[in-house]
Amino acid sequence: MGKKVVVFGSYVADLTGTGEHLPRPAETVFGETFRIGPGGKGSNQAVAAHRAGADLRLITKVGKDVFGDLALAFYEKERMDTQFVLVDEEAATGVALICVDEKTKQNQILVVPSACTRFGDRDLRQIEDIIRNADILLLQFEINMDALEKAVDIAKEHEVLIVLNPAPAREVSRELLSKIDIITPNEMEAKALTGVEVTNEESALQAAQVFHRMGIPSVVITMGEKGAFYSGGSGQGMIPARLVKAVDTTGAGDAFNGGLVTALSEGKELEEAVRFGNTTASLSVQKFGTAPSMPYRREIDREEA
Ligand code: ATP
Repeated sequence: MGKKVVVFGSYVADLTGTGEHLPRPAETVFGETFRIGPGGKGSNQAVAAHRAGADLRLITKVGKDVFGDLALAFYEKERMDTQFVLVDEEAATGVALICVDEKTKQNQILVVPSACTRFGDRDLRQIEDIIRNADILLLQFEINMDALEKAVDIAKEHEVLIVLNPAPAREVSRELLSKIDIITPNEMEAKALTGVEVTNEESALQAAQVFHRMGIPSVVITMGEKGAFYSGGSGQGMIPARLVKAVDTTGAGDAFNGGLVTALSEGKELEEAVRFGNTTASLSVQKFGTAPSMPYRREIDREEA
């Protein structure tokens, strides 16, 4: 059995409608298809890690409503532990309202995160033990920052390895960044945090050096179909992505992060873990959807063989 991984992050229900064009202000458009899917970076990354074989606990928060019930039903179907899927008495479950233009595939998205941005002191007391007893804590920026900061402090105090996927991009204190062990931005998030425009291996190295100067020992910058650059641990370098026919890259970063922490939990070095993350993500981009597109361990092993 690998080390214990805890993901503390968001759940939102993705409500996706397609139509022949996106509605303009004050316009009503009749759509063609509608789908409800489990989403949110925390939840997606947890599903990816669970399917990849990690000993995984998810801490998230939903409301007392139909979307919260759907989340719990989904986790049960996935055989994921729901003990730390907290239920907010007042706020609704987070939702993402996604409109997609059938022809151009352009979208517009309104995210209302609600419950998963309302982790209070009582919740923190409830989840403190699970964080303290973890080996790896994986975080993103879709929960309230005060709760994230407290979780980082608990983890730091108990020598839990802290992995931060700084998405979506936002301003954040240097103090918080200095407590992170491994940071995993994409190119845009790396630019937002370091000021370096990341386009290739050379600029990725420059951005990584800025992160190192902030006190972060290990950096992994995901670069879409180019793959991922890593710096820290045993060395540094670009690990190319697998050459595959991508049909839907949404959630690629989530698949990558789930795969990465799973490999780390099995004692793999950073370079090998990045390779495993690439493989996990390359399988997810060949399927539609986010959480439902996350690959199972047997599929990853088949690719890696
Ligand atoms: P998203 O926000 O869509 O979840 P992201 O911007 O966080 O994605 P990316 O850097 O685009 O993350 O991709 C993450 C990883 O997914 C890459 O490092 C790579 O391993 C894999 N990946 C992405 N796109 C492709 C592709 N077209 N083919 C193969 N692998 C891909």
